[in-house]
Amino acid sequence: MSTANRPEDINCPTSEGLAGFQGGFLESPRGHHQPLLRLEWDPQKTRLIRDRLEVLTFDPAGRLFSFSAQGSVWRRGMDGRVLEIIHDHDPRADMPACNFHEGRVTGLEEAEKWHHWVGKALAEARQRFGPHPALEAPTRFDWKADAEAFLSIFRPVGILPPDQYRALVLQLTWGCAYNKCTFCDFFKKDTFRLKPPDEFREHVRRATDFFGPSLRGRKGVFLGEANAVGIPTPALMEALAIVREVLAGCPEAEPPRFEKVCSFLDTFSTDRTLEEWRALRDAGLDRLYLGMESGSSRVLKFLRKPGSADLSVHLVELLKKAGLRVGPIVMTGVGGLEMAEEHLHETAAMLNRMPLEPEDRIYVSEFMTVPGSEYETLARQAGMHEMTRMGCRVQSRQLRSMLKFDPPPHGPAVALYDVRQFIY
Ligand code: SF4
Repeated sequence: MSTANRPEDINCPTSEGLAGFQGGFLESPRGHHQPLLRLEWDPQKTRLIRDRLEVLTFDPAGRLFSFSAQGSVWRRGMDGRVLEIIHDHDPRADMPACNFHEGRVTGLEEAEKWHHWVGKALAEARQRFGPHPALEAPTRFDWKADAEAFLSIFRPVGILPPDQYRALVLQLTWGCAYNKCTFCDFFKKDTFRLKPPDEFREHVRRATDFFGPSLRGRKGVFLGEANAVGIPTPALMEALAIVREVLAGCPEAEPPRFEKVCSFLDTFSTDRTLEEWRALRDAGLDRLYLGMESGSSRVLKFLRKPGSADLSVHLVELLKKAGLRVGPIVMTGVGGLEMAEEHLHETAAMLNRMPLEPEDRIYVSEFMTVPGSEYETLARQAGMHEMTRMGCRVQSRQLRSMLKFDPPPHGPAVALYDVRQFIY
C-alpha cells in the first residue's frame, strides 16, 4: 500500500482488511469548523488523529485500544471499562521529570459516553476519507458483545508487568495459592484453582478465537494468574505443550513472538531443580517476573511474605543458569518511614548480589496502601508513618543510584511499575 496525503489519491484495498499491507496514511487538511484529520494503518493497528491532539488507536479487529483526549490518556479494557490515566506533575517536586500518574477506572455509564464519542470520530473519518478498509473493522465493532464474549472466556485480569500489557493472557490458574500477603488484595476473594488440561486447552482455543486478527497486535503469551508457574512441574510442562499445540494451529500467532511464555513467580513456592527449569525453558518458558518486594527480612515479615534475600538471590542464580530471563520486582515505601533505611539498603544489597544481565529488567513499584487492607490495619496498630508518594519516588531514585549494574545496553534496565496505569 502506498502512502498519500489526499483522500482522492488513494487506491484502497476493499475487502481483506489490512493483513498483508505494509501500512500507509491519509490526511485531510483543517477546514472551516473541521479539524486536521489523519488516518494511519499497518498490519498491527489503525490510528485516527484529530488535530494532532486526539489520537485513537484500534487493533486489527477494530477493538479500541487507547485514545487521548481532554489532556488524559484513556485505555479501553477488554471487559468494556475505560481507564483514564491522568498526568500529574507535582510543582513542588524539586526533581527534574518528576511525573506521577493517577488512574481512574470509569463506570460502564461513563465508558458508554466514550464509546459514543469514538463512534462520532469514526463517522467523521468515514465522511471525510470515504469507506477506507482501515475504518471498516473499528466502525462495525460491537463493544458490548465484545466485552461479554471476553468475560465468558476470561476472568478480569488483575495485574500484569508493564511490558506485558499487550500480551495474550492465558489463565491456567485462578487466584493465588498463597494469598496471605498483607498488602495484596488482588485475589483475596478467590480460592486457588488449577485448570485441568482439557479445560485449559478449551480456554486457549477460545482465547485465540476471541482475539483472532488482533493476535497480530499482541506481544507474546503471559501465563496467569498470580504465581501460575508455582504449580507442579509435570502440570506446567503439559500446559506449555497445550499453548504450543493450539497456537501452532493459529495463523495469526506467528513465531517467534508466540513461542515464548512469560509469567509471575513468587520466590518461595517452588523448589525446582536446575534440570527442571532447563526443561521448562526448552518447553517455551522465557521470562519470570519475581515478586520480591524487599531485601529486608523485617519488612518481609511485616508484609507476611515468606522468603528472604538469600532465597531470592539463590532463585535468580538458578533461573539464570537455566537460561531464563528474570524481572525482579521490589517495592519502595513499604515498611513506612520506620523501616525506610533498612528496606532501602537491604533491597539494594539483595539486587546487587544477583547475576542480572542486559536481557533482565528490575521493576520498582511505588507502594500505595490498599484501603481496608491488613497492611493498613497493622501499620496503624504499629503507629507506623506511611511514606508519601513523593517519599516513595525519592526512595526509588535512591535505590536506583545504589545499584551497581551498568546502564542498558550493558546492564539490566530499571523501570517503574505503576499499577495505576494498568487495565487489560
Ligand atoms: S504471593 Fe503475590 S499474588 Fe499471592 S498474595 Fe502475595 S503478593 Fe499477592
